[in-house]
Amino acid sequence: VNELASMMDVPVTNIIATCMGLGLFVSINQRLDAETIAIVADEFNYKAEFVSVELQESIEEEIDKEEDLLDRPPIVTVMGHVDHGKTSLLDYIRHANVIGGEAGGITQHIGAYNVALEDGRKITFLDTPGHEAFTAMRARGAQVTDIAIIIIAADDNVMPQTIEAINHASAAGVPIIFAINKIDKPGADPERIKGALANMNYLVEDWGGKYQCQEISAKNGVNIEDLLEKVLLEAELLELKANPNKRAIGSVVESSLDKGRGYVTTLLVQAGTLKVGDILLAGSYTGHVKAMFNERGNRIEAVGPSEPALILGLNGAPQAGDNFNVLESEKDARGIANKREQLQREQGLRTQKHITLDEIGRRIAIGNFQELNVIVKGDVDGSIEALSDSLIKLSTEEIQVNIIHKAVGQISESDVMLATASNAIIVGFQVRPSIGARKLAEKEAIDIRLYSIIYDAIEELKSAMEGMLSPEI
Ligand code: GDP
Repeated sequence: VNELASMMDVPVTNIIATCMGLGLFVSINQRLDAETIAIVADEFNYKAEFVSVELQESIEEEIDKEEDLLDRPPIVTVMGHVDHGKTSLLDYIRHANVIGGEAGGITQHIGAYNVALEDGRKITFLDTPGHEAFTAMRARGAQVTDIAIIIIAADDNVMPQTIEAINHASAAGVPIIFAINKIDKPGADPERIKGALANMNYLVEDWGGKYQCQEISAKNGVNIEDLLEKVLLEAELLELKANPNKRAIGSVVESSLDKGRGYVTTLLVQAGTLKVGDILLAGSYTGHVKAMFNERGNRIEAVGPSEPALILGLNGAPQAGDNFNVLESEKDARGIANKREQLQREQGLRTQKHITLDEIGRRIAIGNFQELNVIVKGDVDGSIEALSDSLIKLSTEEIQVNIIHKAVGQISESDVMLATASNAIIVGFQVRPSIGARKLAEKEAIDIRLYSIIYDAIEELKSAMEGMLSPEI
């Protein structure tokens, strides 16, 4: 606050007053987030330009030349309704390692594993199935999944969590492959599932659409190889590449404290090569990589792009979805870790980091806001459809309204997580948030608006987009 005041040469009390106008109660030494700085600067007729000094000066990014980029395996997440077979599919692939045929298959659960096909092509699976884990990682800044397999039981239907999974994958822009499971069961009707998907505008290939789809039995291992072929086909289209010859960067998959070994952390390398002895910065923790293991429990010396490894040596447990970097200097790593910790503490006190209705008008006015993502929850299908359609129609040349998820039911934690990951607001029509959702929304500063009249919802959003909304006190 103080720094901003002196940069713009205005009394610090004016900055504090402006923040108060935004509903933020700040002190002189408080650190403001980028959005707030942009808005406050705009109030004083300045335009804020952000140059990342602190972090990027120390984490020197190595620029890849075109010829440095080599093919890397796809990273896949399995999502779907409970009991439709996510775990069975992951377990089958893990144990069989389908054609790779390495003796014993994969023995350890480290949160991710890599399988090789006979011809050497590889696929990495994230071993925490479900869209909740996927979106939670995304909310922390990790976009690790390249392809989502949405699994649907053929003896059941497209269920609410199937739709959620589809919407969570779509909101992340991750391509989807459908796996229609349990085809061995009496009463299995894959065509009915394809019909239900078609009704949602997800037309599968053999119905003339663009979505790849494979009928499988996860339990009996039927057609799993075909499914993996489809994953690799999709991956080819994505032209996934990374430079293996640089210091590693990637994401934390999971981390815990082991009594004998200290902090054990599974990392997924996204580019570069991670080696034993490297100086590591993960979230706000640091350390040397003391030892590395693969999912087969073997000690390894190095891991490349799209490969997971369990590492020992960090001085704490970072969260799933935190990014990691390898640095040249231990001192730099510590310095950044400390700075991040300090930021985290301050962010804990900070009130806003996501879009709110009150802010939309200003953000549009300063021109850094083009898309408004909305999640619509309601009591019945009819009103959800009507409301969603009307909200989309509010789109203007300047701003596009996207309904990234809509469903019947109360506002859940998963909705709030999706809003966090996709910077969305949540509109509830004749429904309320669960206690857990309300708490999470408070923590993440997600704007939840509840309405009982459709007209009110539309009018309020419209005014917000026109910058006419008076701030809620
Ligand atoms: P998840 O909740 O999505 O992880 O589902 P699970 O993998 O735990 O599967 C739920 C139940 O369905 C378990 O009892 C599995 O044995 C069963 N199941 C999974 N796949 C198949 C299949 O292909 N055929 C049959 N008959 N049962 C299956």
